[in-house]
Amino acid sequence: MSLPYNPSLATLPVYQPGRPIEEVARELGLPAAGIIKLASNENPFGPSPLALAAMETALRQTHLYPDGNAFYLKARLAEKLQVQPANLVLGSGSNEILEFVGHALLRPGDEVVVSQYSFAVYAIVTHLFGGRLVTVPARNYAHDLPAMLRAVTPRTRIVFVANPNNPTGTLAPAREVRQLVEELPPDVLLVMDEAYLEFLEDPTDLLPLIRSGARPNLLLARTFSKIYGLAGLRIGYGIAAPELVAALEKIRQPFNVNLLAQAGALAALEDEEHIRRTRANNRAGLRFFEENLPQLGLEFVRSAANFILVKAGDGAAVFQALQKDGIIVRPMQGYQLPEFVRISIGTPAENERCLASLRKALGR
Ligand SMILES: *Cc1c(COP(=O)(O)O)cnc(C)c1O
Repeated sequence: MSLPYNPSLATLPVYQPGRPIEEVARELGLPAAGIIKLASNENPFGPSPLALAAMETALRQTHLYPDGNAFYLKARLAEKLQVQPANLVLGSGSNEILEFVGHALLRPGDEVVVSQYSFAVYAIVTHLFGGRLVTVPARNYAHDLPAMLRAVTPRTRIVFVANPNNPTGTLAPAREVRQLVEELPPDVLLVMDEAYLEFLEDPTDLLPLIRSGARPNLLLARTFSKIYGLAGLRIGYGIAAPELVAALEKIRQPFNVNLLAQAGALAALEDEEHIRRTRANNRAGLRFFEENLPQLGLEFVRSAANFILVKAGDGAAVFQALQKDGIIVRPMQGYQLPEFVRISIGTPAENERCLASLRKALGR
């Protein structure tokens, strides 16, 4: 007799993260210091110095449970976003917010609408709860939001949209976002995953719809993992109407966001200089790749985020070749994009090194 596992587990897709530096160092017998990771869209400048200082102080308090309601962090976030603390729910990464949504809304057989080439976690959450994933073909690697709207049926519970999208970096037109928000039936939740929003010059601002209470079926998901440089802390948040937040809060475990994460995130919010510098570096890094990839004869998808999807031929082979040079990028077979690799924007020196290794790998 074996254990009667949840039948959903048998076919559940497994998330394949970017390879950790230490793991690649062990495998190649190289010093970890010589390896660069451009695989998980992390901040190449590291955490904000203000966050580091706050966490060092908070270390002394780690014998205590964190504030389960994260009073100070929610208060400051609410102030910055001009919403109420009751509009906010914190997660151990915004991935956890996505999982809360599955707990709250999905029953076996329910439909979830996503785009082709969108974030892997949406499929995982859907299948975990026995939902049926409805995948709408992408248009030029980007979400086709009008087609996603047409894919909604009476069985649809959730529509997930990443904007900018990962792994393609594409940005949906503001007019299509607004149309989706306006025309989606009120009993379908729209999750706008805004993990890369802070990299945009002029983002489509959906916060007024939260402030006014006009869209109780809208959830914005954001994270401290990307521009804030705190991926290792695991902290993200959802912004929504108080009723939806209250439902997600019932699902949330009491101490899901740890004490260091709360302290680090609170301080990182104040580090405007770190954000500004990261955004400027990212813009320059994207331009660097956009200018240089064509000279290697490589096509890419134009990105609004902190990474670029590059058509490398045999993506797995190019991933391996770069890895031998101590550069970890992300192969894309798991996203049904076997010809591509996804490269996170690094420091100028890291970008140069990556490009040189690409040139070598391609024999150009
Ligand atoms: C990185 C990313 C997240 C954030 O993940 P965390 O759990 O907050 O680290 C969410 N959505 C997308 C599309 C991402 O790329």
